[in-house]
Amino acid sequence: MWIGIDDTDSPAGMCTTYIGAVLVRRLAQAGVRVVEARLVRLNPNVIHKTRGNAAVCIEAEGDMEATFALTCACVEELAEFDAAGTNPGVAVSRVRPPPDFYYAALRDFCTVEEAVEVLESVGARYRGYKNRRGLIGATAAVASVLPDRTYELLAYRKQGMWGTPRQVDRSSLFRAEETTGPHTWDTVDRENDLVVCVPHTPDPVLFGIRGESPAWVREARSYVHSEEPACEQVYTTNQGTDTHLVPGTIGELREGRSYLLRGTVVGSPTTGPGGHVSLLLADGGVEVRCMAYEPTKGFRDVVRELVPGDVVVAAGSYKGGSLNLEKLGICLLADAVRVRPPVCPACGKRMTSAGTGKGYKCRVCGARSREPEVERLERLLRPGWYEVPPTARRHLARPLMRGVPAWQQAMLQSDRGCDCSLHKQP
Ligand code: ATP
Repeated sequence: MWIGIDDTDSPAGMCTTYIGAVLVRRLAQAGVRVVEARLVRLNPNVIHKTRGNAAVCIEAEGDMEATFALTCACVEELAEFDAAGTNPGVAVSRVRPPPDFYYAALRDFCTVEEAVEVLESVGARYRGYKNRRGLIGATAAVASVLPDRTYELLAYRKQGMWGTPRQVDRSSLFRAEETTGPHTWDTVDRENDLVVCVPHTPDPVLFGIRGESPAWVREARSYVHSEEPACEQVYTTNQGTDTHLVPGTIGELREGRSYLLRGTVVGSPTTGPGGHVSLLLADGGVEVRCMAYEPTKGFRDVVRELVPGDVVVAAGSYKGGSLNLEKLGICLLADAVRVRPPVCPACGKRMTSAGTGKGYKCRVCGARSREPEVERLERLLRPGWYEVPPTARRHLARPLMRGVPAWQQAMLQSDRGCDCSLHKQP
């Protein structure tokens, strides 16, 4: 059977994955065999999420009624019922629903009624508390399929420590990453000298180690020195898989969905207040703004190096009318040129404009020229993929060290969908 739970926490505390870890132990004590603990991330653009829009599914074998009762009791004991935005959902099903609802919750928006319809169709036992919104995530978790999967070892704090500063030895985290990367990732951000895997929120998570197999996350964890955890759970996850992305076309994007789209750079990227970098892409005469926000740090330098006519593929969520960049593939680099008044051949001084359409004039000797100086600039970028650093990476975003899926590589290499007039620029 599959047990789904969601929406148990609030910004002030708790975490659905912690309840999942407690439930795994209580199920085992009750003689229910746990086959897998799964952590799925759903649409990152859902406004009701507390943090990372996580939901949990536990696959188990045993008595369904007893399991349902145990799960509800666990959620009723531990969920943050007093928080206004916490609306827990529990679902237990002997039949796994088709994955459509999972993909809808991952890439789009769903309603409680749609979740209930799915649960009814498979004869699930379910309970939605308060406004029942958590049934959406619980149903999506139960219906989830992971054609690509990664793992996360989550260590949880003892209850008396919740809300106090976490004691995790920084250097041990860097050693864990050095020793086990690239089989693990996002423990630290070496480029920015930051710890990534230790949260700052008042929830029970002490740290989380992400990697490609249970063995690798356990190996990385063995290097970590910290306060003594209450318990640890290895989850199978859809994190780091890019499964939230769908191929998109500029002009046909829908708010709150995440895309990989192809376009040609129009105009020079600009840096606005707060250090956020904005880039305009065009395809078929339609434009979209892409944003590399300040927390994406050095990734903004890649965006700033783009010039009109470059052809790129851009991944990110379309929110508030712009695509918030998670990664960028450079398909084709245009010639970058600097156009300025020529140097006077007679006196060696740089000429100035003689007025619109009138060419250039030397202010020293009066010589005239019609042609500007066109200097070809060296491009610092190379075709290929660029990503935000670990500190800015979203849970679902696939690190480049995991490779690039074939459909994304095909979009990078395709010669479709770009304004050819612009690649020939100057
Ligand atoms: P945590 O990561 O700590 O578990 P969270 O960020 O997962 O917290 P929740 O408290 O679970 O946030 O809140 C997310 C809410 O949004 C849940 O009620 C969930 O059922 C609902 N939800 C998830 N995905 C969708 C979706 N695609 N459409 C509509 N509602 C969704």
